[in-house]
Amino acid sequence: MQIRDLVREDIRDLVPYEPHLFSNVIKLDANENPHLFPADLMRALYSGLDGETFTRYPDPTCRELKNRIAGFTGTSPDNVILGNGSDELIQLILQTFGGPGKRVIIPVPTFSMYKIHGQITGTLPVDVPRDESFGLAMEQLLVEIKHPATRVTFIATPNNPTGNAVPADQVRRLAEEANSLVVADEAYIDFGGETCLPLLKDYPNLIILRTFSKIGLAGLRVGYLLAHQDVTVELLKVKQPYNVNAFSQMAAATVIDRWPLLRKQIEEIISERERLAAELGTIPGMTVYPSQANFILFRVPGSAPEIHARLLDGGILVRVGLGTTLGLGNCLRVTVGTRQENDLFLEKLKKSLYPEICI
Ligand code: PMP
Repeated sequence: MQIRDLVREDIRDLVPYEPHLFSNVIKLDANENPHLFPADLMRALYSGLDGETFTRYPDPTCRELKNRIAGFTGTSPDNVILGNGSDELIQLILQTFGGPGKRVIIPVPTFSMYKIHGQITGTLPVDVPRDESFGLAMEQLLVEIKHPATRVTFIATPNNPTGNAVPADQVRRLAEEANSLVVADEAYIDFGGETCLPLLKDYPNLIILRTFSKIGLAGLRVGYLLAHQDVTVELLKVKQPYNVNAFSQMAAATVIDRWPLLRKQIEEIISERERLAAELGTIPGMTVYPSQANFILFRVPGSAPEIHARLLDGGILVRVGLGTTLGLGNCLRVTVGTRQENDLFLEKLKKSLYPEICI
C-alpha cells in the first residue's frame, strides 16, 4: 500500500506551499508593512493581557472585534465573520458554497490562493484572462458567471500582483447579473481603490473580504469578511469555532481603536509607492504598472529570474514566478519598503540590470 494512493485523487498532485526563507535580506516579497509596530500600540496591547488570555479558549464569536469592525465599516456584527487570515475565509467560502460539480470564476492573473482553495475543496477553477491593462474582461466574465454551476467569483481590487483596482460599478454589475456569490477581495483597500462596501446593502450575494495583514498584523493572521446575514449564517455552519486566537483578536481590536497611528504609516507607504514608481519609470527598458496597492509590478528588460537572483545576492528579496498569464514571466513584484529600503532596492536593481555601467 502506498500512502499516496489513499489521498483524494483531485488533490494528489498539489504542491505544498513553499516558504521563501532567506536570512539577512530586506524582505520586499510579501506585501507586508515595512515599518515597526508602533510602540504605543504595543503597550496598549500588552496592558490588555491578563492571566486568562492564554489559558482560556478564545471567544468563538469574536464579539469585541466584530463590534469594532461593524462600527468601523458601518455594518452590523451579524454581517462580520473573522478568519485566521483572509486565506482561511477564501477556503471557508469555497467549502460552504463550492465543491464537486461547482465552479469558481477567477479573473487572472490574480492571487493564487483562489485557485488552490478551489482545488482543495473540489471546486472547478475557471480562469478568465484580464485585458492587457489587467482590467476585467466583463463580457466573458458575465458569460462564465451565468453558467449554472458557478457558485463564486473572486475579484481582487486592488489586484495582486498587478496593483490595479476595478471600478466598484463593475463589481455591482457582476453582482447584479449573477445568480451566485461575488467576492470583492479588498486586501489592499487601505492603499487605494474604490471600496465596494456601499454595495453591500443592495446585493445579498456580495461578500467583501479584508485583512489586517497588509497594514501591520501579518504575523497574527486576522482577516474578515462582510456580507448579508443570509450568507454569514451559512458560513458559520462550517467555520471552525476557535479559528482566531485570543491574542490576535485583541491586537486587531487595539489597532482599530488606535487607527491614526497606523494611518500615518499607510500614508507614508502610499507616498513612497509613488516615488518608487516614478524612479522605476526612469530606468531604460522598464515597464512599470500603475499600482493602488502597497507593491509595484514591473516588467524588466531581461530575464526576471536572473534579476531576482542578482537582487538576492545584493540582499534584496522581491517576488518572482508570477505565472505566465499576459507575459508576467518577465515581471517582478516589489513591496513598497521604507524610504531607505526603497533606495537600496533601486540601487541594487540598476546594478543587476546594467552591471557593466554601475560597477
Ligand atoms: N487576498 C489577496 C488579494 C492577497 O494578496 C492576500 C495575501 N497575499 C490575501 C488575500 C491573504 O491575506 P491574509 O491571509 O494574510 O489575510
